[in-house]
Amino acid sequence: MAARPNTLYIVVPCYNEEAVLPETAKRLREKLRSLIRAGTIDPRSRVFFVNDGSKDTTWEIITRLHRVDPIFCGADLSRNRGHQNALLAGLMTAKDKADMVISMDADLQDDVEAIDAMVAKYMDGADVVYGVRSSRKKDSFFKRFTAESFYRLMDALGAETIFNHADYRLMSKRALEGLAEFKEVNLFLRGIVPLIGYEPAIVHYKRGERFAGESKYPLKKMLSFAMEGITSLSVKPIRMIAAMGFLVFLVSIGMILYNIIRWATGNTVAGWASLSCSVWFIGGLILLSLGVVGEYIGKIYMETKGRPRFLIREVLGDEDSKD
Ligand code: UDP
Ligand code: MG
Repeated sequence: MAARPNTLYIVVPCYNEEAVLPETAKRLREKLRSLIRAGTIDPRSRVFFVNDGSKDTTWEIITRLHRVDPIFCGADLSRNRGHQNALLAGLMTAKDKADMVISMDADLQDDVEAIDAMVAKYMDGADVVYGVRSSRKKDSFFKRFTAESFYRLMDALGAETIFNHADYRLMSKRALEGLAEFKEVNLFLRGIVPLIGYEPAIVHYKRGERFAGESKYPLKKMLSFAMEGITSLSVKPIRMIAAMGFLVFLVSIGMILYNIIRWATGNTVAGWASLSCSVWFIGGLILLSLGVVGEYIGKIYMETKGRPRFLIREVLGDEDSKD
């Protein structure tokens, strides 16, 4: 196989990261330089910082880095739009200039040394290389517990994600072009990326501690992120309403049988049978109807996302039209 084009961009979203940015920049520059020296990647490879409306001197640091060494470049968002949107902004800007893009956090929790393995997998033909944590020992018990429950819950609710993979991944140009076809506004990248398809691969790495500064994901943000993930990928919660309705309906049938038995054995209280039966019956009916209405709303919801229905890997018989 001919060598693949190999300009690498590393996209790093940054929100109030002045404490770690100089160190992150230093390590990423060393990594890129050594890969360029080895001839693995193109000399036009870059580190691309996205400033997500930071309130500290993050953007000043990025501009200074760029002035001193053009291996660093960046984009400044108009305001804070959150991690996923900052990441998307970086990916979509970089995709026109790069052949492969690696996204990673600014805090050095994602092991820089895994980049070599990711690039190697790309060279072997992978289009999406997922960075998967091999251990969470460095995370606090609380973080580990909440994060792992989150992945399990996502799975149970029908949002398929790669277990213990966050947003440390490599994507090829065509995978990024595929991602660009997903027009949805509620973005949950780690759920969308597996939907793109093409050749996947996995690289394991050890997740370290945040190098400096504080987590920008307090519990509140984490919960809303989880909610976003589930509701933007799956309509299963709506289905649960219908299932619940069906269950209550069964109870109402049980209730009717029970009342008949009581009546047959002479144990009747005036008015009780009709009341208890209708409460369950009507309850079940309402839930079931809600579920049916919800099913249509779910369909409308999925339609409004305008997701691509297919992405083509290759077309045969098109060889002499272009290139
Ligand atoms: N981040 C961002 N915008 C935000 C919050 C976070 O761009 O509104 C970036 C942040 O700078 C970091 C990454 O997202 O590069 C992950 O954040 P953090 O390390 O604080 O999350 P944690 O590792 O604690 O889950
Ligand atoms: Mg972090």
